[in-house]
Amino acid sequence: MTAIQEPTSPVAAYDQPYDYTRVELTEPDWRRFPGWHDVTEAEWRDAQWQRVHCIRNAKQLRALMGDQLEERFYEDMLADQREMATMSMLLPPQMINTMAPNAGTDPAKVTEAWYADPIRRYMLPVRSDRDTEWPSHPHSERDSLHEAEMWVVEGLTHRYPTKVLAEMISTCPQYCGHCTRMDLVGNSTEQVEKHKLSLKPVDRQDAMIEYLRKTPGVRDVVVSGGDVANVPWPQLESFLMRLMDIDTVRDIRLATKALAALPQHWIQPKVVEGLERVAGTAQRRGVNLAIHTHVNHAQSVTPLVAEAARTALDVGVRDVRNQGVLMKGVNATPADLLDLCFALQGEANILPYYFYMCDMIPNAEHWRVSVHEAQELQHAIMGYLPGYATPRIVCDVPYVGKRWVHQLAEYDRELGISYWTKNYRTGIEHEDPEALQRRYPYYDPISTLPEAGQRWWASQPG
Ligand code: SF4
Repeated sequence: MTAIQEPTSPVAAYDQPYDYTRVELTEPDWRRFPGWHDVTEAEWRDAQWQRVHCIRNAKQLRALMGDQLEERFYEDMLADQREMATMSMLLPPQMINTMAPNAGTDPAKVTEAWYADPIRRYMLPVRSDRDTEWPSHPHSERDSLHEAEMWVVEGLTHRYPTKVLAEMISTCPQYCGHCTRMDLVGNSTEQVEKHKLSLKPVDRQDAMIEYLRKTPGVRDVVVSGGDVANVPWPQLESFLMRLMDIDTVRDIRLATKALAALPQHWIQPKVVEGLERVAGTAQRRGVNLAIHTHVNHAQSVTPLVAEAARTALDVGVRDVRNQGVLMKGVNATPADLLDLCFALQGEANILPYYFYMCDMIPNAEHWRVSVHEAQELQHAIMGYLPGYATPRIVCDVPYVGKRWVHQLAEYDRELGISYWTKNYRTGIEHEDPEALQRRYPYYDPISTLPEAGQRWWASQPG
């Protein structure tokens, strides 16, 4: 008889490509910033205080940082704003506080930490971040997903058969450097004159509701922007209640990065009470009401973000999900993606739902990854999280829609062109007999191609 071996305690860990250890969330101390040295917790939790103290320009950043950030950073930032930026600067204190949380106060160390910081890299781009040779892909476009082309009424994109996107507003409480809707969202920059919504919000919303009443095949409405946190609450509540009066609408998803960038908005009593009324109506009518947020790095997931998500769930929202964006220098490693997913799923009740590949907008090449890199990342993150919480990495292919990164039909790795198919017509293809037979291209960043591919692109007429 063989003796049963006593298990050793704790069980010896196997060597794995990713080691999971539970990490509890922390709120970095905002008093490390000279400009917020005396800010109280009550002020910090106040949404209005956060909005008033957003950082919008170099002068405000200097006042916040004192002498902690070296001059070269400001010069680099201003050069980017002059020559490259497609989004203007708007950073809530909550977001700034998650940048370089452990950098100390020594200016050289703080500056290095800011340069390297994943949140800074997409929320506060500097000139030296950008790709020097191919800052934009030759096929990049301002409205790279052609959402406006598919508007059935102003702001209502009907791209998929059963789903629509309702752009309620063209502003956000924060502006992300890589914003897909850079064509419309935010203030104009030196490089980009923004388009404007022309209808008054009330007329636009009436037209959207009218379209949805007349189109019973649409069952799912993404209520977005911009960010719904910038829609005055009574207006948003009234729109949602009218949506739920349409009995063919069965899913409503509220898109708000503010849940993570300005969680203070989502814990204000007037918003929580309103959300409870909306969630109660959704439950009574059997409508799936969810919040979709946009978190790209574990550093952004703090106790306040978890509180905002739990508050929404407590008042009856069915689910809070994350749609992150995959970006080099921010999160495009298996460890960064898994750390973020475990922070969301394990500590904040936010389901890691999607990672989108960064879209082909101008000046975004330094953030974008190739399709094969995205496929490798998808492979690397399988098996660690519960299956239902393992995010899909998706490519939003122009004129097609979201596709899992392994779903391509053909892939020329040398030229970095992948070809995709689809099984439905978008809103502008009802008369197009070829729509379902065609192959739709998507382009890898040229800097990721082998030399022969890079030469081919360089030889193309401009
Ligand atoms: S929150 Fe969304 S819509 Fe607003 S700037 Fe960021 S990516 Fe664009």
